[in-house]
Amino acid sequence: MSKRKIVHLPDDEGYRWWRIFDDTYVIHYGEALDIFLLLGGEKTLLIDTAYGRGDLPNIVDELRGGRELLVVNTHGHFDHTGGNRWFPRVHMHKNAFAYADHSFGPLDPAWLANMPYPDYEKIAVDDGDVFDLGGRRVDVIYTPAHCDSSLSFIDHGRRLLFSGDEFDAGQANLNVFSSVGAFLENCRRLKAREDEFDFIMPNHNGTPIAKSYLDDFITASQHVVDGRPDFVPLEGGHRRPFHGDRAVRVRVGDSCINYLPEE
Ligand SMILES: [Zn+2]
Repeated sequence: MSKRKIVHLPDDEGYRWWRIFDDTYVIHYGEALDIFLLLGGEKTLLIDTAYGRGDLPNIVDELRGGRELLVVNTHGHFDHTGGNRWFPRVHMHKNAFAYADHSFGPLDPAWLANMPYPDYEKIAVDDGDVFDLGGRRVDVIYTPAHCDSSLSFIDHGRRLLFSGDEFDAGQANLNVFSSVGAFLENCRRLKAREDEFDFIMPNHNGTPIAKSYLDDFITASQHVVDGRPDFVPLEGGHRRPFHGDRAVRVRVGDSCINYLPEE
């Protein structure tokens, strides 16, 4: 396959990538953003497209080894969807259709014009759907709290849970207080399936992480729902929460939940 022409920008950050199994890559962009490539017997699944900067399409083409490529977004935020226009078709939850192409700021016109699929096809996937990569099955679970289009994935080939931005080693970035209840329910659903995975693969702040994070996030969100949050100062997290100084942070064990108090 011929290499894609790339428009490089002054503020592009670098990629690094590595195998965590013979058939599983982490592709790391910049300081704290990871996306994933799962190789099956027949097909490859790319989980998220980062910002789409730099050599992403050529890296993916090299690593997939000629297999058919499927692309899916964990949710519709632009640090996960920015590279969608490199690909003819991208799977995502239907709620992401409306905003998956909304960047966080202005995009360089030459960079944007260089991407081959400005009107790429958006294909809806939802809870219970399955990607069959050929001897490697990946289940789709709808887990909206950080975002109303969030999907998690259980890869039965390597017993991995991909959690998107719903939670990571740094934090769970939630919005309004009521989203904490949804987050708790989602975590309980994942906990009920913990026999199906050995490690959790978030997109930010380090990956893989231990399954025990799920227990801590359940405890922390239960504290919030019960009205007894353990407030901690803002400093000390890996990333700033969505809402800056307005956020409440609740920390239990390894977990940290950020959310907006009710006005
Ligand atoms: Zn996000």
